[in-house]
Amino acid sequence: MNNLVEIVLPNALDHGFDYRVPDGMDAPIGAIVTVPLSGKHMLGVVRGAGQGSVDPAKIKSILRVHTEFPALKPDFMKFLEWAAWYNGAPKGAVIKMVLPIADIEKQGRVHSPEHISAIHSGAITLAELSPEQKAATHSLLARSDKGFGISLLDGVTGSGKTEVYFAAIAERLAENPNAQVLVLLPEIALSVQWLARFEQRFGVAPVLWHSNVTPARRRAAWQAIATGHARVVVGARSALFLPYPNLAMIVVDEEHDGSYKQEEGVMYHARDMAIARAQHEHFPVILVSATPSLETVHNVKNGKYAEVTLPMRHAEARMPDIHLLDMRAEKLERDSFISRPLRDAIADALASGHQAMLFLNRRGYAPLVLCRHCGHRFQCPSCSAWLVMHQKGKSKASLHCHHCDYHIPMPGACPECKSENTLHPCGPGVERIFEEIQALLPEARVATLASDSTTSHNELTKIIEAMEAREIDILIGTQMIAKGHHFSGLAVVGVVDADLGLAGGDLRAAEKTYQLLHQISGRAGRETIRGSVYLQSYIPDHPVMRALASGARDAFFTAELNAREYALMPPFSRLAALIIDGHKEAEVIAAAKQLAQIANHDANITTYGPAPAPLYMLRGKYRYRFLVKAPRNINLPSYMRSWVAGAKVPRSVRIKMDIDPMSFM
Ligand SMILES: [Zn+2]
Ligand SMILES: [Zn+2]
Repeated sequence: MNNLVEIVLPNALDHGFDYRVPDGMDAPIGAIVTVPLSGKHMLGVVRGAGQGSVDPAKIKSILRVHTEFPALKPDFMKFLEWAAWYNGAPKGAVIKMVLPIADIEKQGRVHSPEHISAIHSGAITLAELSPEQKAATHSLLARSDKGFGISLLDGVTGSGKTEVYFAAIAERLAENPNAQVLVLLPEIALSVQWLARFEQRFGVAPVLWHSNVTPARRRAAWQAIATGHARVVVGARSALFLPYPNLAMIVVDEEHDGSYKQEEGVMYHARDMAIARAQHEHFPVILVSATPSLETVHNVKNGKYAEVTLPMRHAEARMPDIHLLDMRAEKLERDSFISRPLRDAIADALASGHQAMLFLNRRGYAPLVLCRHCGHRFQCPSCSAWLVMHQKGKSKASLHCHHCDYHIPMPGACPECKSENTLHPCGPGVERIFEEIQALLPEARVATLASDSTTSHNELTKIIEAMEAREIDILIGTQMIAKGHHFSGLAVVGVVDADLGLAGGDLRAAEKTYQLLHQISGRAGRETIRGSVYLQSYIPDHPVMRALASGARDAFFTAELNAREYALMPPFSRLAALIIDGHKEAEVIAAAKQLAQIANHDANITTYGPAPAPLYMLRGKYRYRFLVKAPRNINLPSYMRSWVAGAKVPRSVRIKMDIDPMSFM
């Protein structure tokens, strides 16, 4: 039967289904179609010829080919197959990222083609670029003329990297009237300033793709992307798998950012997938960062990536002064967390009419509550995690698990020894710093910014706008405040606990801490104000602290790379993890043992585990982990896939493969 095609549906299966193409219908490979399935209508993509293994009488016919959307191109189809294979994901799960909307026929009203096309017919008024920025733009464009290529746009905060890649985007759009460009941005929902700058440059807003977009706008955005009308799309990592018919460039801003790794569902790294897509579809990628990932630094050193550097700070802004505070010498009062020098610096900044920012990467009031009488600690019943105390303003205190939805009101007495008034919050979260600052500087206007389920996206945006308008004197926040914001009145940045990210056995702890603190520091003194940064640390001699204090970024990267090379860790080797989880502990342990038995003992491959995961229980599931280390020339995805394929485990046990893991929890 030659009128059968295989159609992959958005589901969790690694195979498609055969459907019949009715006479007179054309359903080429890559076509987006609607088919019947169990009495429902489903979207799907034609993968190729049908397998013909099903009883012809049971095969159903395609209902509709969506010719209003161009068929997915062969190179993109190849990329999708590769992405599923590489990340150990079913093909259906990847198609679900291509077709993330159910109702594509319903017309979206938000992005009319006329509106979108304004982006190239409207005046592109690029800002006055400095000579360095002009040179950088030319270097990027010279590189991108040759099809696929990766460039790192490297420059300190405020050096004008955004203007440079805006100029490169504008050129790309001008030279090809159909070209589409994707910009990946972390925390895009809060990037109010970035969006304003974009609109100012291009005369129209870009098409947005992230989880805070309403369903109607999402549908409209998908339609604009899939028809090719959307010229510039700004999105979170999931924007990478959308069916752009004419994608001509991807910019990955803050390429080192941890949020590019998706840890749920299909586990993938959006930066790495952006590079792979560009390679399949033959277009350039621009990675942007002031503190590139070590993998990227390594690839620049070995000549795989081109490097374009912007050394100067734009306009009059200068680099901030960094003060490393040795907290062993600071005598803090009980339950206070802000040292005298930091407190004085904030007070001075406010007295001069400037603003301050305090950074602590911990939500809530206190990370742990302890009974002073019996030592009882509050733990989540479903996760291996302490409950975090929250107490916003005058509201009643409560205890929350940060891994699941579990929360309880703060009890009055200890549930263990029944003592009253013995429960003590240990350590600070941003809410506790807020309280301390209010007591120290009662006149100051203070706000906190943390991604909390209790705070809506609108509220967060309002806080950023208020900070920008100087209606806030002191902003206290988690790593959300690190991302790209430009506050003209900001003079002092305080890092409450610079050591926080260094705890735990994460291979990238030093690198990530350096990147985050460097990014935070870059918020201070972005215009004419002299900026000062105060890092509170109990380990001021740590290489990360010394590198931050001295500004010796490249020396730090070199030292870290040497340490990784010595330990044969990425980027000098490759890692993959297996995570085995399930509700029944005995089944999970049995599955882990079985996997250990069937592991292929290749002398080049080192297998660590099975071991209980550091986060042993998560949302009621028990978890075991393997970590596999291999030389770079070994085909690790294939090795992992064939290993997992050999395991016979009950349906209730799940085995997940994580290639190039970022989290080891
Ligand atoms: Zn107690
Ligand atoms: Zn929990």
